[in-house]
Parts: sequence; C-alpha cells; structure tokens
Amino acid sequence: MQTHKSISDGYALLLKNAPFLFKFKPSNTFVSTKTNVKFGQMIHAHLIRTTQTDSNLIQNNTLVNLYAKCGRISLARRLFDEMSERNVVSWSTLMAGYFHKGLSSEVLSLFVSMNNGFSPRPNEYIFATVISSCANLQAFEVGIQCHAYVLKSGLVFYSYVMNALIYMYSRCSDVEGALRVFKTMPRVDSFSCNSLIYGLIEHKYFNEALEVLNKMGNESVAWDHVTYTTILGLCACMKDLNLGLQVHGQILRKYVEFNVYVGSAIIDMYGKCGRIVSARNVFDRLVGPNVVSWTAIMSAYSQNGGFEEALKLFVEMELDGVRANEFTYAVMLNSCAGLSALRYGDLLNAHIEKMGFKAHLIVGNALINLYSKSGSVDDAGRIFEGMLYRDVVSWNSMIAGYAHHGFDSEALEVFRHMLIVGEVPNYVTFVGVLSACGHLGLVSDGFYYLNNLMKDIGITPGVEHYTCIVGLLGRAGLLDEAEKFMRCTPVDWDVVAWRTLLSACHVHQNFGLGKRIAEIILQLDPVDVGTYILLSNMYAKAKRWDGVVKIRKLMRGRDIKKEPGVSWIQVKGDTHVFVSEDRKHPDSRRIYEKLTELLTKIKLVGYVPDFATVLHDVDDEQKEEYLRYHSEKLAIAFGLISMPPGAPIHIIKNLRMCEDCHMAAKLISNVTNRKIVIRDANRFHCFESGFCSCGDYW
Ligand code: ZN
Ligand code: ZN
Repeated sequence: MQTHKSISDGYALLLKNAPFLFKFKPSNTFVSTKTNVKFGQMIHAHLIRTTQTDSNLIQNNTLVNLYAKCGRISLARRLFDEMSERNVVSWSTLMAGYFHKGLSSEVLSLFVSMNNGFSPRPNEYIFATVISSCANLQAFEVGIQCHAYVLKSGLVFYSYVMNALIYMYSRCSDVEGALRVFKTMPRVDSFSCNSLIYGLIEHKYFNEALEVLNKMGNESVAWDHVTYTTILGLCACMKDLNLGLQVHGQILRKYVEFNVYVGSAIIDMYGKCGRIVSARNVFDRLVGPNVVSWTAIMSAYSQNGGFEEALKLFVEMELDGVRANEFTYAVMLNSCAGLSALRYGDLLNAHIEKMGFKAHLIVGNALINLYSKSGSVDDAGRIFEGMLYRDVVSWNSMIAGYAHHGFDSEALEVFRHMLIVGEVPNYVTFVGVLSACGHLGLVSDGFYYLNNLMKDIGITPGVEHYTCIVGLLGRAGLLDEAEKFMRCTPVDWDVVAWRTLLSACHVHQNFGLGKRIAEIILQLDPVDVGTYILLSNMYAKAKRWDGVVKIRKLMRGRDIKKEPGVSWIQVKGDTHVFVSEDRKHPDSRRIYEKLTELLTKIKLVGYVPDFATVLHDVDDEQKEEYLRYHSEKLAIAFGLISMPPGAPIHIIKNLRMCEDCHMAAKLISNVTNRKIVIRDANRFHCFESGFCSCGDYW
C-alpha cells in the first residue's frame, strides 16, 4: 500500500521531470546548444593554433560555458584545469555546469577547493549554485554555514541567493527556515513563491502552501507555468477538485496552448481526484505528449483501477516512439500488481532489466509491491536483497509483504535490520510490525512497540495500529481484554476493527461476545454480508439451528444476498474463472475426476468434511456434496492437471475461504507435494507440506 502511495505521488514525478524548475542567469551571453558544440570545438582548435589560449580568460570562460551547457562537462573541466588564470566567472560557470548535470557533490567539492586563499571570493551566483546543491544533497549543515556567510557578506539580498536558500530549507525539511527567509524578501517573485510552495507541498504543509498562493495574489505576482504545475500538484495532493477546476479554467483563459508539463499536471490532478474521463480528455488534446504526459495518464488509470487501460496505453506509447522512464515502469508494475498479472509482470521485469532501469529505487519498490501482491513473496525478498538503495517505502513494503503472507518472523527480522541500518520507521512501518506481532502471538512485544517505541520516534498511533492490537489480543484468545481495550481506547473504531474482534470470537468459539460484536457491526453497516455469514457460522457451530434460521430470515428481509464464491487461476497467461459446482469449463470432466481422486487421497490422511457451515436441514451425504465443489477446490484441481510438475499454483478467491476448503488445501499441498497460494478476501494463504502460513487463523 505504501508503494502505491509513492507511485501515486505523481507530483514528485512531474517536478523531477521538469527541467525548467531552477534556472540561473547565464554568466555570459554565448548561446550554447547541442548543435553548436562541434562549432565550439572548431573555434577552440582554431584558438589553440592561432593565439596563446591560456592568456585569454574571457575566451576560455566562454568555452567552459559552451561545453558545460552542451552537457560535455568533462571537456569543460579539462579546459578549466588547464587554465593558468581563472576568475570568479570561470568557477561559477563550471559549478553551474555540474549543477545542471545533477552532479551536486562535484559543486561542493569545487567550492571547498575554492577556499584555498588564492581563488577569488565567491559571488552571489556561486552561492546560489552551492546552496542549491546542498538542497539536492540534503547537506543541511553546509547549507546553514553558507547562509551565515551570505548574511555576513551582504550577498543574501540577491534574489537568486534567497531563492536558493528557500529551496535548500524546503528540501532539508526545515519549512519554518524557508518561511523565515521568505518573509525577509523585499519583493517576492514567482520563482521564490514556486520553490517555497514546492517545498511546502513536499512536506505536506498544504494550508501554508495556500497562504503563499494568497500572498502571490495580494502582491500581484503573476503565475507562470511552474506556478500552475505546482498548484495543480497541490490540488492533486489535497484531492481538491474544486480548486483544480478553477485552476484549469484559469489556464484555459490565459493560454491557447499550454506546455506538456502543465498538461501533465492537469491530467495528474484529475486522476487523483478520480475524474478519469476529464484526465483522458486533456491527454487526447495534448500536442506532442512526452513521457511525462504518458506516464501521468497511465498513472491516472492505474490509480482509478483501470489497470488494463494503463497497460494498453503503454503499448501505444511505445508505438508512438516515446521511451519509457523509471516512473513509467513503476506505474506499469503497479498496474500488473493490481491485476495480479504475475506473468506479464515477469516479462516486464525482464524488459526493465534489459533497459537498465532495475537499479532505480522507484522501480525496485514497485517490483516488491508486484511480487508481494501476487503471492510471490520469495521473489519480492530477492528483489529487496538485490537493491542498491532502499528507502522507507522499500522496507515497509517488504515488512508488509512478509506479514501478509504469514511470514511474520521474516517481517520482524526485516524490521530489526531496518533499525540496525538506521532507517527511521514511520506510521506505515508499525502497521506491518504490529500485525506480524499479532500473528506470532507476541503480546508484550506488540504493546512495547505501541506504547514505547512509537512514542519515542514521535508517531501518534492511529486506528490501524489499534486494530492490530485488537487482532493481537484476539488471536491470543484474550477476547475480554480485546473488548476492554476497544472500549477504553479513545479512537473512532471502524467496521474493520470490530470485524477483527468478531473473527477472533469465531475462531475461539466465543459465541456470547461474538453475538454482541456482530450487533455493533450491523448497526455501523447493516449490509455487511461477511458479518451475517460469520454469525450464522457461529450459530451453526454451536448447533443453534434456530439462530441460523433467524439470520437467514434477517438477510432475506433486508434483501442481502451472499455474493457467489468465485476463484481465478492463471495458466499460461490465460485466466480461468470458477464458481461453485462449475461445469462450464471445457476441461470440466477431467477437473471433476481429478478432484474426486484428490478428495479420496486426503481422506486417507485424515480429511473429514467440515459440515458446520452447511445447511442443517439436509443429510450428511448431501452436505458433503455442498462442500466438494467450492470454486477454489475446482481451481486447485485444474491447476494440478494443467501446470507443469512442481510449479506453484496461484489462486485468487473473492470471499473468505471456508474452513473445509482450507483443510482440504493443506492436505492436498501435502499429498501432491505442491505449493498452493490462495489470496482470499482477508489475506494470503501459502499452503506447503500440509501447513498454511496463516497458522489456521484468518
Ligand atoms: Zn470452501
Ligand atoms: Zn490459511
């Protein structure tokens, strides 16, 4: 889920792709483009032949600038190193070249070598570049030292320097520092406002960002393309469709045709606000969409569940000759995860490796998400192990992935490792950690994390964490404590939390409490089918047939129908769908033969059909018939006859698996020596050698 958040953060995506965000005044007027690098080299050669190059400082500076602007930074550096005389322009030109190449650490090391007593004093351009580099590297200490120096030297009054300082403070998470500099600016311009708003949004200070926006209005600072892009990003983050529509209207009034970055930001805004048709309309009218716009529209579809459409657009984009970047691949992988299209995801993974995008953090995170959502947590683990860089999202995805699959010790091991390497856990991390503690029955550890560690780190627990604690107590059989905990903790408990307690009552067969909890849930959500079913099962287990009849009557009276059970299985890229007692499949006869054979085999090793959940008013033989052909059993049988020996079987089921199918799947995994992974409405079940990773608790 956290990976999804980072992907959906298309705003960061837009800005990372926006090359126009930080422009510095060029230090001379020589216009450099890619096409005239050859021309420049020609002039350079000519100068070397005809004059004493090292005596002509201005010429050399111009050439350094030319090479730097054309992206030939090593040529620029060689010339710079060979120059016998350098002035402040030479230094600032080379630094700007490194900065635009994204080599911020080179800027800082040049700056350090400047302070040798022989070099000229740095000017405002140099400080602007150095401070911006500190921002990119998040070198906060150096940034603050630069701030102190420019304050002393009076350079702070240059607007470039102020802008760079705002950018630096924003990037280093010191939003108050950024606002302090902002307030001292005699005259705000669109550049400083844009970088401040950008920083504020990045750190989720949305209201403060709106204040700066108002200030721009009050001081009649005109909005430019960057401002529009930034504000649309704000609308997207706040999911504020009204503001988004106003901004879109303003853009339409102001520009006949807007650039692709603004267009992409509009698409992203509509996508985040759930308006996929509007997003598509804007995309279809864009002239010459680039990779950012394609990625924005794919991401809009993906966020709104249009995974297949996103995949289709990817093919169109490739046909259009636009090369995908790491953000595009991340969106694609997440679309595959949404579809549980593991095979397509595997192909994409191979493609990504070939194209050299695998080392990107965002791609690695998306791969972990794909594999853990598709039931291949081992593959997710391999991707995680192989990552060069990890961020908190990578750690969280891995912890949640393991916990979801019932590999809870592994989840806690990853958490320990995370603490050792010094990555700071966040809100999401603890949801995974507490749920792992719950599955393992580590009651005191769970409370320690909730009451001590989270507090020390400064994370306020939310309903998700408290729900994990309810699950933890429930699983340990401490049902009264769980109920007491819910009544004493001042938090808005939702249906999910109550249902967690109800499941615990179901497993531990605490009928009295279960009935009370079910009543609470049905008050909150009178059409929650799952609760009716669980309650009816509890009555059945307690042999309270009157209760079963009562629930069925209640459901009929409220017109609540049990959703039919459906299972999906992918074999050789095709998806096969099964419902209970399905006979529509072309291989139906062989599937039923196989299933009969399997049931006979597992009866020999102790399988007894679990009738508790079946209607009471039919005889045993008929009851067995009702259980035999649940959709997941048919899917397992089909998987066994159609998949190569040894290949794991992956199945998705729309409802919670019943006890009988769960028992059967465990035994089938044992007698056939096959790994079976079933994702039901609650979680993943990995059946192997007669055991399920959920530990029979789901
Ligand atoms: Zn079943
Ligand atoms: Zn299970």
